[in-house]
Amino acid sequence: MTTDTLTLTTLIADLPGAEPNTVAAMNRLGLRCVADLLLHMPTRYRRSRPWQAIDHVSKAADLDTTDEMEVRGEIVSVERGFGRSAKVEAVIEDDSGEIDLIFFNQPWIQKKMHPGMKVQATGRPRVYKSRVQIANPQWRRIDDDAALIAPANDGDDAELVPVYRASDELPSDRIAAVIAAVLDRATALLVDHLSEDFRTSHGLPTLARAYEHLHRPELEEQIDSARRRLIFDELLMLQLGVMMKRFHRRTHLHASALPLTSDVIERINARIPFTPTNAQQRVMAEIGHDLTKSIPMNRLLQGDVGSGKTIVALAAMLQAVAHGRQAVLIAPTELLAEQHERTLRQFLMNAPLRMELLTGSLGTSARRELVKDIADGSVDILIGTHAVLTSDVMFQDLAVAVTDEQHRFGVRQRAALRDKAADDTRSPHQLVMTATPIPRTLSLTIFGDLDVSVIDELPPGRTPVATSTVGRAAAEGIYEDIATRVRDGERAFIVVPVIDESESGLTDLRSHVEMLATGPLRTCRLEVMHGRLDQVERDDVMDRFRSGELDVIVATTVIEVGVDVPEATVMVIENADRFGLAQLHQLRGRVGRGERAGRCVLIADTSTDEGRMRLAAMVDTTDGFRIAERDLAIRGPGELFGSKQSGLPPFRIAALPRDMELLALARRDAEEWIMRDPLLTQPEHALLRTRLLKAHGKWLGLGDVG
Ligand code: ADP
Ligand code: MG
Repeated sequence: MTTDTLTLTTLIADLPGAEPNTVAAMNRLGLRCVADLLLHMPTRYRRSRPWQAIDHVSKAADLDTTDEMEVRGEIVSVERGFGRSAKVEAVIEDDSGEIDLIFFNQPWIQKKMHPGMKVQATGRPRVYKSRVQIANPQWRRIDDDAALIAPANDGDDAELVPVYRASDELPSDRIAAVIAAVLDRATALLVDHLSEDFRTSHGLPTLARAYEHLHRPELEEQIDSARRRLIFDELLMLQLGVMMKRFHRRTHLHASALPLTSDVIERINARIPFTPTNAQQRVMAEIGHDLTKSIPMNRLLQGDVGSGKTIVALAAMLQAVAHGRQAVLIAPTELLAEQHERTLRQFLMNAPLRMELLTGSLGTSARRELVKDIADGSVDILIGTHAVLTSDVMFQDLAVAVTDEQHRFGVRQRAALRDKAADDTRSPHQLVMTATPIPRTLSLTIFGDLDVSVIDELPPGRTPVATSTVGRAAAEGIYEDIATRVRDGERAFIVVPVIDESESGLTDLRSHVEMLATGPLRTCRLEVMHGRLDQVERDDVMDRFRSGELDVIVATTVIEVGVDVPEATVMVIENADRFGLAQLHQLRGRVGRGERAGRCVLIADTSTDEGRMRLAAMVDTTDGFRIAERDLAIRGPGELFGSKQSGLPPFRIAALPRDMELLALARRDAEEWIMRDPLLTQPEHALLRTRLLKAHGKWLGLGDVG
């Protein structure tokens, strides 16, 4: 092929001089075409310096440097390491000293090097058993009469060299060479979707400039501004997509308006068995007001475990039923669906309405019958699991859909729920409830198409779970305490971190259970629960625990979701330092849901200050939001916004909360643009729109936006 015909989709294999081995290695890294090369961002940059004298490098190693350094020397010896390890050790020297080059798993090196040969090697020097070595250096042979005396250098003018994600077979420098060879021609092909005016006002470089500077920077500032441009771009696209969706929902979709007449209010209040807290009242008013409108509600309800979200859901559903329409409540597991059904049935005792439960375990004929009754409108309130989302379930007039424990659901499920409406332009009002406290700043920006309500108050008389931390040495006493309490009618959870629930990971869990069952807890009825059990098996364990057939559950974090067992009073979390704060808080919320106060013991031998601070935070505060903010600061939002949970596509270059400021900026801009050109149909937005739909059209369900 000739160089003129290079396009962004030109395959690396078709580039002039492409070697089959390199191409194959690139493919294995996910790099197939020219665009992939541009998008392969350097993970960091190193300063390339001329080589340095070996004693200079040895001193740097003593200082535990993280810099890569380059040395030259003559090979003194090459030896295969002892034992089975495929290790090759070469010693090189110059006038100032000697250094070891260690090659792991590269036995062929032994044949390529021989004493007397001169080499140049690059890597990070470190001290090992009082010798200085460079492990797995990059190296090349140099001329036998090349000079070994290092040139003087002050280092400041050293070149910035991009370091790429690479593989053993394909080091970063080879990737860099391939990218460098196409960079100018490739960036020349880039058409910017942001206008010059916009770029200037935001101080952003063109796309072409940004990629050029990322891959071939001269100054650190160029890297910063290039990254800023690409991060902003990514966030702007996301925000535009979300806003477009919001606009579409508000203008094209209609929901049933459910007026709050005094009669309706009275019917709802009659079903609430206690005085709602102020927070519940506020939230119910917000939701109640949304439901009176024909714009579909799309609201996220956040409230800590035990804050009383259920009656808020009930009130919303009753507002639909009072107008002769239908409502659905979806829970993440059968057990939770059943629990909701039991609770709501109590609240709705003797109410003139029909409520049914639809889960995967319903028999075929019963299911067929129920589906028919849902479709003809004779079921008023349906409680269920995702089984409700299958396509045969259609409602006659679904006005309110509530999803509980949203972190198990995603955007896609919300779209599926919307499809339960009779035609394309109708949507139920949607309420998504979650006990995962999402810091407000984040939820407002990320879930830009959701309004947010927060219950920030617990019902009266609730004693917060008393939390303490103890060292491993005290564990025995804690187990004995559990045995005593069990004799007293209480029940307990013991949670163990099992990072890898493959068979081998579970061996730890099993041996721990074995130890407990034959030791301190031998008088208790005990069962294990972990992620390898299917939902039916897990539900079975929980059922037996709730009914009192079991006293203690030893589990991995699978018990996190909102199961209510009033007799469960003790939560012991082993190796608590291995859990995130938000997760610990969720776990703790599983106990103390009845009359007796709950107790949570965190067992950990923490060696770091940070670890101690984290556990101390659990002892000090029972406020889920404060805990979430701290967790976010410590771990980043990955957990919360991993694509699995939120349904969001993962970011390529942006990261939160690091890029919060750019996100806010992108949001403001997106808001303004969508106000002026709601579906980005103006010609100057055409390219932006195409790229936006490509990136976000699918998961946001923007297909119907056209
Ligand atoms: P969650 O927000 O975790 O779903 P629930 O709705 O299950 O919380 O409520 C927890 C418990 O508190 C339930 O037993 C519920 O009946 C009770 N409850 C909720 N609101 C109030 C209130 N205002 N006064 C007294 N008890 C309440
Ligand atoms: Mg709940």
